[in-house]
Amino acid sequence: MQIVRFSYNNQVNYGVLRNGIVHSLAVDPFTSFDNGSDFIFDGETYPLPETKLLAPCLPSKIVCLGVNYLPHAQEMNDTPPSNPLIFLKPSTAVIGPDDSIVLPRSWRRVDYECELAVVIGKKARYVSETASRKYVLGYTCFNDVTERQIQKEDRQWTRAKSFDNFAPVGPWIETEVNPDDLKLETYLNGEVRQSSRTSELIFGISVLVSFISGVMTLLPGDVIATGTPGGIGPMQPGDTVEIKIEKIGTLRNKVVAP
Ligand code: MG
Repeated sequence: MQIVRFSYNNQVNYGVLRNGIVHSLAVDPFTSFDNGSDFIFDGETYPLPETKLLAPCLPSKIVCLGVNYLPHAQEMNDTPPSNPLIFLKPSTAVIGPDDSIVLPRSWRRVDYECELAVVIGKKARYVSETASRKYVLGYTCFNDVTERQIQKEDRQWTRAKSFDNFAPVGPWIETEVNPDDLKLETYLNGEVRQSSRTSELIFGISVLVSFISGVMTLLPGDVIATGTPGGIGPMQPGDTVEIKIEKIGTLRNKVVAP
């Protein structure tokens, strides 16, 4: 099932996308997921092209993984960490599908990073690895946009990772896919720049949900960005960047000058 957040005539709602038609929900998908109930529809339907898709969730926080694929560790002259290396991106960085990545005024080198995103479905605290999938609503595409020059200069990554528009997410939450071995790719102006599989993750999804829930409470709609594979590189104003994940979809954004 593909869960969308959309606007139609300036009204914002969640919906389920089926065969190009958005079926509007009466109760938000996180409430239904938490109750263990089926999704409840309000009877309204909209052709997808008449809607605007928004970021499919509104995370209170985005928990990102650093150095979670070996080839990315190598290209950054880094060694894989012994525990999952986590950092945060603020909710204010979130943009949706087809929104513009407006570069910050001070930009020097801004990179794409394709990542599989886990969308948390219900409150999670001290969750075991075995139980962790029960807390996941689904999966989507994420671009961990990074100011690489600042990342190199600062001793930690908050500034480099937190500019407005640096967290494109979407286009929808896929609830039925097995995330353990999916092809993930970045296309820049139609040319492939990153290509890997989620089976190459150093710390897999169950480990990550469990580990992070032992640090901070994960809330419905929170996003875990699982890390990027090798092949990172810069974007320029005018570029179109696509994060494509097998069986999930394509997240497309245009890069725009400040
Ligand atoms: Mg990243």
